Amino acid sequence: MTESAQTVTNWACNIVYSAREFHRPDSLDALRALVAGSAKVRVLGSGHSFNRIADPGGEGVLLSIAALPPVIDVDTAARTVRVSGGVRYAELARAVHAHGLALPNMASLPHISVAGSVATGTHGSGVGNGPLAEVVREVELVTADGTTVTIARGDARFDGAVTSLGALGVVTALTLDLEPSYEVEQHVFTELPLAGLDYEAVAGSAYSVSLFTDWREPGFRQVWVKRRTDRAPVRFPWAEPATEALHPVPGMPAVNCTEQFGVPGPWHERLPHFRAEFTPSSGAELQSEYLLPRSTALDVLHALDGIRSTVAGVLQTCEVRTVAADPQWLSPAHGRDSVAVHFTWVVDTEAVLPVVRRVEEALDPFDPRPHWGKVFTMPAAEIRRRYTRLADFRELAQAIDPTGKFTNAFVRDVLGG
Ligand SMILES: Cc1cc2nc3c(=O)[nH]c(=O)nc-3n(C[C@H](O)[C@H](O)[C@H](O)COP(=O)(O)OP(=O)(O)OC[C@H]3O[C@@H](n4cnc5c(N)ncnc54)[C@H](O)[C@@H]3O)c2cc1C
Repeated sequence: MTESAQTVTNWACNIVYSAREFHRPDSLDALRALVAGSAKVRVLGSGHSFNRIADPGGEGVLLSIAALPPVIDVDTAARTVRVSGGVRYAELARAVHAHGLALPNMASLPHISVAGSVATGTHGSGVGNGPLAEVVREVELVTADGTTVTIARGDARFDGAVTSLGALGVVTALTLDLEPSYEVEQHVFTELPLAGLDYEAVAGSAYSVSLFTDWREPGFRQVWVKRRTDRAPVRFPWAEPATEALHPVPGMPAVNCTEQFGVPGPWHERLPHFRAEFTPSSGAELQSEYLLPRSTALDVLHALDGIRSTVAGVLQTCEVRTVAADPQWLSPAHGRDSVAVHFTWVVDTEAVLPVVRRVEEALDPFDPRPHWGKVFTMPAAEIRRRYTRLADFRELAQAIDPTGKFTNAFVRDVLGG
């Protein structure tokens, strides 16, 4: 990403942000002054979203907090960490692990920022694991007038304040719950048939389970099973163990993937699919993802199987995960245990969008909620219907940011009213 506003792009380079100015303040005072003195502001995290969610629009200011002095304060007695919003999970995980502590889960890639991830409801997998936001106990926001507002668990506003699409202010720091460190083994199995699939048993067979397919044939090419070594051994009678290390995209070398073959290792070196030391500066891909009630998982997978050849034409890989119900009002997993169906597409927006539309049609009967940070075509009115607490969020945003300084076209469209 360059410093010139005209050429700031997201990680995938499919979005060029249309800001008037791009700033990277290096102190909290400079950040406060910049926010107070600007009419329109959006914050850019690590830029791993695939749509215009972070774009302030032509007249606005795009602001990165990556140059603020990073803070990672671990309180071993309280088992918490206070972390700056711009810190990435890879760095946070290493620091927390050095204190013998851990996060319960991670996303597939550890290079994403903490504030940006929880703002969009980012998640990993596991029937008992909520999105990454589940461990947030406190959020510190620089709001429109440059002052700090802290919202902690127990505050009536809290369930709107974490997965907030960046619409409340600049998240400068978050305090997270931790647990004692643990080890994880990663086992990969191949060729799991869709016919006769007991999805609940497969998804619940370990701490975190992901199914991968390219939809060229029915069924799943790979199943990644991540077992905590302090939990029951893996019994996976439905498919054969892989005989070589695998990458989730068929044909890609596995060298950048986390260790497989059941070799135990620290939680943060097994829960992500990709190694922290491999830092992709940009990726030749687009992504979409939908969260649906987990009880519909089999019907959802059969519906996708019905449009398999359409999807396969522009797909690199499709990943199926589970996410436990989340209280955050705008979380795609809000109020329901979910199955999350993710698509890594080829990097050809024109070819991909009609297929995204087709996927949304196929999933429509099952009440899909799109991932906020990925590509979707679902009309905002339809999205609004799928969130029972959206009006509460709109009220919260109006109370904290009455002039809509942190609102952009994306947020306005989603919130409506
Ligand atoms: C290769 C890859 C793998 C991915 N894997 C997963 C996965 O496993 N699971 C999953 O759920 N998602 C995944 N994602 C999606 C990703 O987690 C989300 O797009 C997430 O929002 C990225 O965080 P970011 O910091 O890059 O956010 P950005 O894209 O920079 O911003 C996202 C939103 O957060 C806001 N924001 C960012 N920082 C702040 C702040 N400090 N204060 C206020 N608002 C802020 C922005 O304004 C914007 O609205 C993946 C993306 C990529 C590219």
